[in-house]
Amino acid sequence: MDINKLIKPNIRSLRAYQAEEIPCRIKLDANESPFSAVSGQRSAFSFKRNLQALNRYPDPQAASLRKLMARGLKVRPQNILHGNGSDELIYNLITVFGGPVLYPVPTFSMYGIISQALGERKIEIPLDNEFDLDTDAFIKTIKRSNPKLIFLSSPNNPTGNCFSEDRILKIIRQSKGLVIVDEAYQPFSDKRSFIPLVKTHKNLVILRTLSKIGLAGLRVGFMIADTDIIDEVNKVRLPFNVNALSQRIATEALQNRMQLISDIRRIISERKRLFKELAGMDGVTPYPSDANFIFFKVKDGERVYSGLLRKGVLIRNMKGVADGCLRVTVGTPAENAAFIKALKLIL
Ligand code: PMP
Repeated sequence: MDINKLIKPNIRSLRAYQAEEIPCRIKLDANESPFSAVSGQRSAFSFKRNLQALNRYPDPQAASLRKLMARGLKVRPQNILHGNGSDELIYNLITVFGGPVLYPVPTFSMYGIISQALGERKIEIPLDNEFDLDTDAFIKTIKRSNPKLIFLSSPNNPTGNCFSEDRILKIIRQSKGLVIVDEAYQPFSDKRSFIPLVKTHKNLVILRTLSKIGLAGLRVGFMIADTDIIDEVNKVRLPFNVNALSQRIATEALQNRMQLISDIRRIISERKRLFKELAGMDGVTPYPSDANFIFFKVKDGERVYSGLLRKGVLIRNMKGVADGCLRVTVGTPAENAAFIKALKLIL
């Protein structure tokens, strides 16, 4: 048997998402929060009681979790759908609507990977010099190719900035397909969320996740949209996609809003400090960030990346995506200090 002859061509040419664990002392590569939203002493979560209930399937509707999230975001529970991470919802959206799928580059790689995995055409438009949306190119492509889905990560991963509100709005208004504003990093931004616009813009979908605010290990994400869209996507969602422990722990974390907010504030203030440090270094150009990471340029990205790794500090090398650029996640004050110290030594 030749397995290559059996595999669909779009899968054969696909490369697996690089999520391998690189051993390190300080992990600043994956935009996780350095603070667990349910660390031991804070949590009232009764592990034993919840383990005993594991003979039952989880709530397929994740009703308690959706209700809490809806309250927090000031939308109705019917307008929210839960995913095993927001990347599952990206998968579901592309499964339901198909392509062409349009997005700017560089951006979150899963929009392209999932499109290819599902055999859908993808169209990429480079960001402008300020990492903002090239509206003219978007409008032209919308008119020419009529994309079913447009993904806009705002704040954008990996560049860290929010796109201009008026440019996003223009794209939403011009598009006959859905525009998905992926707000994975919105809690770290002082720009407005697009969630209130879901009521008035029927083709707008918002993605949110608990992964960046201290619960990446749970795999819980949400989609906010008009009920017509929610109902269609819900048809392809696997019935028990968010497991019982994740639902329970996420519910508890969301009940403790003050803790979440205070951890987010700590990360924002650390980001400001880290940005100043980087901006003050010769040969380093950091770009302003609305997220929990900072994108920066150095003369020799490869040398800096591997030098840091030798010192036990893992960040993200953007080679191939934006050559000479690196992305560092904001960690604890101690982690950030260790990163800065190592970077100074290398430079
Ligand atoms: N959207 C963006 C822009 C991201 O950067 C990420 C995580 N890297 C995700 C979505 C996926 O998050 P999750 O699946 O953990 O919710």
